[in-house]
Amino acid sequence: MIKDKKHLIVGAGLSGICLAIQLVRRGTHVTIIDKGENFSSIIAAGMINPLVFRRMTKSWRVDEFLPYLNSFYAALEQETNSSFFYELPIRRLFSSEQERNFWLEKENNPAFQAYMHPVTEEDKQYDNAKNPFGSGRVKGSCFVDVHSFVEATHRWIQQHAKFRNELFDYNALDGLNYKNESFDAIIFCEGFENKNNPWFGELPLDHTKGQTLTIRATSLPDDVSLNRKCFVQPREKGTYKIGSTYEWHNSTTHITEEAKEEILDNLSYITDEKVEVLNQEAGIRPTTRDRRPLLGSHPQHPNYHIFNGLGAKGYMLAPLLSEEFVHYLEGNLDLDKEVNISRYFMPE
Ligand SMILES: Cc1cc2nc3c(=O)[nH]c(=O)nc-3n(C[C@H](O)[C@H](O)[C@H](O)COP(=O)(O)OP(=O)(O)OC[C@H]3O[C@@H](n4cnc5c(N)ncnc54)[C@H](O)[C@@H]3O)c2cc1C
Repeated sequence: MIKDKKHLIVGAGLSGICLAIQLVRRGTHVTIIDKGENFSSIIAAGMINPLVFRRMTKSWRVDEFLPYLNSFYAALEQETNSSFFYELPIRRLFSSEQERNFWLEKENNPAFQAYMHPVTEEDKQYDNAKNPFGSGRVKGSCFVDVHSFVEATHRWIQQHAKFRNELFDYNALDGLNYKNESFDAIIFCEGFENKNNPWFGELPLDHTKGQTLTIRATSLPDDVSLNRKCFVQPREKGTYKIGSTYEWHNSTTHITEEAKEEILDNLSYITDEKVEVLNQEAGIRPTTRDRRPLLGSHPQHPNYHIFNGLGAKGYMLAPLLSEEFVHYLEGNLDLDKEVNISRYFMPE
């Protein structure tokens, strides 16, 4: 049982937020520490897309993740009295005849029917964007307004747990004591900064930099997210977030001119409009080679845990994985082998 136990979480990005919420709901006393420099959860576009367009496959475990996240975010909106979770259709603009045929094959497959609208005449001739091979509409896609989400959930955590705005000092952790306070477990959720962690820093967590632009445009639709070579996400009053780059093994946090040019070049496959660039942001995704998160416990320090490696789809994965992780901490569930760090770490 973890009720009435004391847990310390390091990192209040999406991972730490979801775990803190799940633990508080079970009656655990949570302290969360964050140094206030987030480079992923508040930079993310927050898109939740059930499909992987590159391979025209379903996203990993989407049949489980999607229903869970829908009720998780909706309940959280009510609890925090905020709005941050929205349905947002995605229209894939096909890049080739071959891609269109892939879609047409899959749309008749029962496993895909929940995620693909059958292509109609209108989809073939969609004229709000360049569309030489037609387009397909995704079902069940949505998005999290990440700024509002982080703000609302941090407020919630401050009301229901202890929130310490400071740098976690690894040298000050002595067993389960941290700065004169004793805990039952420590959970590390440091995103790409896991590399500094003395216990989990050796795990193969990669750093995949991503940059986005906020633009103003007049020719793009405001009721759908377009996708071809890049995503175009409608935001307030004629503005759009577009992106993003995938800069492997890169953990620098500054914006670059090359990334801006790359994104604008990708946008030229969707529109010829010369758009106005309003803002540019850079962040770092905590990614893994096998595209599976890094969850589990340290073999020599069984009360030190890690919840990290959410990759490019954290907003889809975190709600259910955090619930599963808490069942694991309670001793009621074995972690899925695909996510368990035992696949890399020393044998348990
Ligand atoms: C450009 C970009 C676009 C993205 N788009 C999407 C998208 O559309 N959909 C989607 O689902 N996902 C998207 N993602 C991925 C998503 O952002 C991540 O999967 C997720 O946010 C990772 O969350 P995290 O909490 O694990 O890490 P982070 O958000 O990095 O949080 C880690 C936290 O730990 C804190 N921390 C670290 N070390 C310490 C320390 N020593 N002491 C105190 N605090 C510490 C940091 O301050 C930080 O707040 C995108 C990411 C990027 C960069």
